[in-house]
Amino acid sequence: MTASSIFAAEHILFDPAVPDSDAVPLVFAFPNEYSVGITSLGYQVIWAMLAQRQDLAVGRLFTDVADHLPAQPELMGFSVSWELDYINILNLLEQQQIPIRSCDRTQDHPLIFGGGPVLTANPEPFADFFDIVLLGDGEDLIPSFIDTYQLVRTASRLEQLKALAQVPGIYIPSLYQPVYTEPTGPISHVEPVSGVPAIVKKQTYRGNVLLASTVVTEKAAWENIFMVEVVRSCPEMCRFCLASYLTLPFRTASLDDSLVPAIERGLNVTQRLGLLGASVTQHPGFEELLDYINQPTYDDVRLSIASVRTNTVNEKLANTLVNHGTKSITIAVESGSERVREIINKKLATADIERAIVNAKAGGLSSVKLYGMAGIPGETEADLEATATMMLELKKAAKGLRLTLGCSTFVPKAHTPFQWYGVNPQAEKRLKFLQKKLRSQGIDFRPESYNWSVIQTLISRGDRRIGQLLELTRHYGDSLGSYRRAFKELKGQLPPLEFYVYTDWSTEQALPWDHLEGPLSKSTLLKHLESAEVHMDEPRFCNSTPDLKLCSSA
Ligand code: SF4
Repeated sequence: MTASSIFAAEHILFDPAVPDSDAVPLVFAFPNEYSVGITSLGYQVIWAMLAQRQDLAVGRLFTDVADHLPAQPELMGFSVSWELDYINILNLLEQQQIPIRSCDRTQDHPLIFGGGPVLTANPEPFADFFDIVLLGDGEDLIPSFIDTYQLVRTASRLEQLKALAQVPGIYIPSLYQPVYTEPTGPISHVEPVSGVPAIVKKQTYRGNVLLASTVVTEKAAWENIFMVEVVRSCPEMCRFCLASYLTLPFRTASLDDSLVPAIERGLNVTQRLGLLGASVTQHPGFEELLDYINQPTYDDVRLSIASVRTNTVNEKLANTLVNHGTKSITIAVESGSERVREIINKKLATADIERAIVNAKAGGLSSVKLYGMAGIPGETEADLEATATMMLELKKAAKGLRLTLGCSTFVPKAHTPFQWYGVNPQAEKRLKFLQKKLRSQGIDFRPESYNWSVIQTLISRGDRRIGQLLELTRHYGDSLGSYRRAFKELKGQLPPLEFYVYTDWSTEQALPWDHLEGPLSKSTLLKHLESAEVHMDEPRFCNSTPDLKLCSSA
């Protein structure tokens, strides 16, 4: 397939600007193949925002194709939504003859910027590769970034970076120096160079018009899909959940000003609609939205919903999905144990799960995938037995419905109350236990790779020293063994893998992202940690005596 046939297949749903003669040449890249990148709503929308500005001449770059690449870009940006894509970022930089470390770039190189969920959660492992990191929602951040760059376009690289560092939400890693307690010890603090803000605050968009596709194409991984963002964040605040904690507060798209006009626009060019968001069915007007989609004009529309909260699965929802070509839903239950669900603040009773399964079947769905986790802090072997028992009960409750349990390992994420916990080394054994128990009873069990969870944790809790490790590892392959090999080579220069992955971190200890402010303060996260530990047999951080102050705030 040629690049021209790929781009010719695009239905562009905005009017790109004709660039001014002195427009800033910019490359906006997605560090994966075109089919993956163009399926990212975030990438699509930021590309459209940039391409609608006359003061920019925007080219696109993917790992397999490029479109209108300028010869000498001044800015090059990456939208990063998957941790392991860092390998492709480094490869694309090399391919464009740009040094991979920001400290080796000169005035002749473009400024490399990045944004997206991975970098907003914890940019530190990637800090050496980026000149600029944009933290948070792009709606206001992108315009302030480009406007500020225009003001300092002719200044020296350092002056440009210092000016950009003054913009709320713009993080310039090279202007913040981490200090460690010792070379192989935890971080002590981060020193900002003089004149830059000590804390960079993640930006939050407060409007009620949320994102919608700016391009529809048959070449996307989700062929010809038109995506609309129904909600941003999730009000449930399960204690491990990055999708909720990092993007708070919960915001909903206006039905009249955002969703309906966007859907009308999209369904002019395609018959496939995707409703996106961390908790789509919690939109207060969700019933109305279903009624709108159920009108006869949209009978042929194929509908997908990204996330369905278990206790919102009713017959009407199941029926709407079936009538619009979807036969299956996924619900996240996390555990079959009520106690574990209390630990994580999942406000869900076993009866709710059973009702959802029965409703799914009654509404005509043919399969339900449940999503669980092993190794949740406070989980015991009895809790896994409870998960196995629940699955068997569900099988009985809705005979004929195909049930699958997908299961991952708990991974601690920055800016969540569970950021201090390490991974439970028993998790791998627990996944195997569930596998044996469920498969022998005819339940489809699909564990996610435990090793992949270890790598994810390394990146999600990593500090800046992990950058050199990532550089080494990309030449060894992406297996856990490759990471272990790189740790061996760098012994003495950074803490061991166990420190990042398995160790519970003291709540008194500085965190690699303490200088980057998320939606909630550390003291609030500690309170939420405390509320989780109340349900644990053996709390790891908090004293269980109720009249004592449970957790110390750092
Ligand atoms: S319900 Fe789902 S999206 Fe919402 S906080 Fe819990 S895990 Fe996250």
